[in-house]
Amino acid sequence: MATTITTGTAEVRDITKMERIGAHSHIRGLGLDDRLEPRGNSQGMVGQAKARKAAGMILKLVQEGRIAGRAMLFAGPPSTGKTAIALGMAQTLGSDVPFTVITASEVFSLSMSKTEALTQAFRRSIGVRIREETEIIEGEVVEMQIDRSLTGATKTGKLTIKTTDMETIYDLGTKMIDALAKEKVTAGDVISIDKTSGKVSKLGRSFARSRDYDAMGADTKFVQCPEGEIQKRKEVVHTVSLHEIDVINSRTQGFLALFAGDTGEIKPELRNQINSKVAEWREEGKAEIIPGVLFIDEVHMLDIECFSFLNRALENELAPLVIMASNRGMARIRGTKFRSPHGLPVDLLDRVLIVSTQPYQAEEIEQIIKIRCEEEDVTLSEAALNVLSTMATQTTLRYALNLISTAQTLARKRKSAQVDVEDLRRTYSYFMDEKRSVEWIKQQQGFLVF
Ligand code: ATP
Repeated sequence: MATTITTGTAEVRDITKMERIGAHSHIRGLGLDDRLEPRGNSQGMVGQAKARKAAGMILKLVQEGRIAGRAMLFAGPPSTGKTAIALGMAQTLGSDVPFTVITASEVFSLSMSKTEALTQAFRRSIGVRIREETEIIEGEVVEMQIDRSLTGATKTGKLTIKTTDMETIYDLGTKMIDALAKEKVTAGDVISIDKTSGKVSKLGRSFARSRDYDAMGADTKFVQCPEGEIQKRKEVVHTVSLHEIDVINSRTQGFLALFAGDTGEIKPELRNQINSKVAEWREEGKAEIIPGVLFIDEVHMLDIECFSFLNRALENELAPLVIMASNRGMARIRGTKFRSPHGLPVDLLDRVLIVSTQPYQAEEIEQIIKIRCEEEDVTLSEAALNVLSTMATQTTLRYALNLISTAQTLARKRKSAQVDVEDLRRTYSYFMDEKRSVEWIKQQQGFLVF
């Protein structure tokens, strides 16, 4: 590995997170007031007052940086808002604090070991806020070609950049094509590209010649390069996760793996080098560590080896806050023959703050359904709202919420702008809830061969 550690500023789209957020897109925070008291219906959150308050108290610790070695467990029946509250915490923390969501079963994959998957999840949840001087790279658009097939752009251009850093070349190349597509620059223009924001500015030939850089902003300063050229530098602050730094610097993976999402295993030696480099940056005041949050849903699916790993990893001074969720009561600890509460070993349970979530009252269910309808832009008749609330009480809240969009499709088919009881009745007959599905399988026993 080269001695320079690249941090990169690539925006990583976490597909798992995006999909999971769909069902919770109405959640905008924990809905607490300044004294951490839960408001009745706020930021998409309804009810579950005690759990929300507990989550708010833990968040306070996160914000004060006093969370190392801590873990909490949301325990409660299905559809009682465990994931929703965890995501509400994420919204409250803001985008600068990493928040990683995994489901325990994701850890078991053929492409990497369980402990590697967990290590990656941990490192994705630890942010490094880096202060850097960024280069503003200048170049001349020297060549223009018409190419309609590429990226939808009408033109492609070539830019001479004095760098061998692959990441810069890829990144600037993409931004360049984008600027050309918008016809902002043409051949012969002298341009500058801010390496961090990617902003492409046209300097104009005389402007570039005059080197009148003050016009570029007060936070831009000039440094003399070894070749005698003057370069502009700007101080920027960005936050990346330890995992992103690992991937960008991995010889076998490279930063493009961040886009593909398939990062494979990362060598422990590389991680050690990165840890020492980050420690160096911290000493020099160039970086600070931001422990984030790792949310592990269905945590009872982890096995005893994973639990030992968690116990050890929580001891690390950089450990993020680990939030777990389980809807199991007494369950077998996977990989052993022992049973314990929520399927977690006693030594782990012992260090965890347990927060329980309770089944909802009828009025709370009605309010949550109303919020979801607004979110999905669906109008329910008064009667349909009553029926759907009853369905949620008799099945699960998640099942009832899932029926909203399918019922809307049926309402549209009969050219109605409003979902009525008959749409719900039909969609209820098409899609089974868990109880009916189990019943159906029981009835079929003897006829079905799995
Ligand atoms: P499971 O144990 O099955 O994973 P869960 O306890 O994690 O369930 P969620 O997935 O959070 O339950 O909740 C089911 C649905 O209800 C989601 O769409 C969620 O956003 C919504 N929801 C749950 N609780 C609340 C709440 N208090 N306020 C608003 N929406 C909620």
